[in-house]
Amino acid sequence: MSTARGPDTEAMPSDSEWSRESRLVAGARPQEAGQPLNTPIVPASNFLAGGEFGYARDHGTPSWVALERLMADLEGGHALSFGSGMAAVAAVFDQLSVGAHIVWPEDCYQGVAGIIAAGETNGRWTSHRVATADTEAWIHAAGTADLIWLESPSNPLLRIADLEAIGDADRSADSIMAVDNTLATPLNQRPLELGADISVTSATKYIGGHSDLLCGVTVTADRALHERISRSRLLNGATPGNLEAFLACRGARTLALRLGAGQHNAGVLAERLHTHGSVELVRYPGLVSHPQHELARRQLQGMGTIISFDVVGGAAAAERLLGHLRLIAHATSFGAVESTIERRASIPGQEHLPEGLLRLSVGIEKVDDLWGDLDAALSSI
Ligand code: PLP
Repeated sequence: MSTARGPDTEAMPSDSEWSRESRLVAGARPQEAGQPLNTPIVPASNFLAGGEFGYARDHGTPSWVALERLMADLEGGHALSFGSGMAAVAAVFDQLSVGAHIVWPEDCYQGVAGIIAAGETNGRWTSHRVATADTEAWIHAAGTADLIWLESPSNPLLRIADLEAIGDADRSADSIMAVDNTLATPLNQRPLELGADISVTSATKYIGGHSDLLCGVTVTADRALHERISRSRLLNGATPGNLEAFLACRGARTLALRLGAGQHNAGVLAERLHTHGSVELVRYPGLVSHPQHELARRQLQGMGTIISFDVVGGAAAAERLLGHLRLIAHATSFGAVESTIERRASIPGQEHLPEGLLRLSVGIEKVDDLWGDLDAALSSI
């Protein structure tokens, strides 16, 4: 049964006439005369009664509120910040009743797979998986789901789900459609505008952008659902640190510049890798060879900074390549100023991936330096 969905605009922070790029810079700024330009860290777990804050786990702190105000404005809903992306993810799963059914994608972050598997083992819920790009299958499955979990672009195979079509599918009024928006960022994609009830972001990645914090955010269209997630955060104590929230706000101020530079570099590197003799396959939504290139262009404002490519020679060749890189860091994670790369099948739980698949998160270094590093490493495998 389809119901009217979308943000409850009355209760939402007001949208401004500025671009998101400008709001990233100014959105977390205090409003009162005489305040510092950036909300300072207040190292308090408790505040005197009668003001905006109280006990921090319950009422938040100025640093969290600044980050939440910013994310709420960027994504168009009600935001909550958490101690990590996984804490935000877990708060969404916490909303499910015993016996719920989850529909989730064949390619997604392994931590989500871990939560679903644990709940299934305990008999808490059931689930089935759908190929990210199989829109008809999602539409068909939506009617059976209490939680539709999506990740688009997906990590690490960079598949694209047609969020708008899935958001339009008939489903029960109390079902939840949640989208992990970590790879896209609120600059490239706003899931609530496409029909999702919740957008989840690991702010550890692009929002922070400097590999120096763990933080997560949910943005929720409906205020009642926001309140339920807030209560989960309170009861589970899944709150962010003040320093981390402050750093996330600081990182966010340069998101547009970092993402712009990284995407430019990624586009150039993807094209060059695509024609390189030692590379079997390149997955990047910005390449016309990507099976969902047209959907990506329609749905995303930018093609992102992550390229997954398979080298000729499988695992051994990929490992040799990692050993030859000097500028690009052999490290996990993505979305930071520095380029990082890893062989994903070497990660426990990711053995199903092509063994020679390398996930490259392209940073803001000079693109010719990055290509020089990659090209030299490719020619030595
Ligand atoms: N979502 C995606 C797509 C991720 O890649 C990750 C982490 O890699 C997470 C969520 C979890 O975020 P965190 O590491 O901040 O807990």
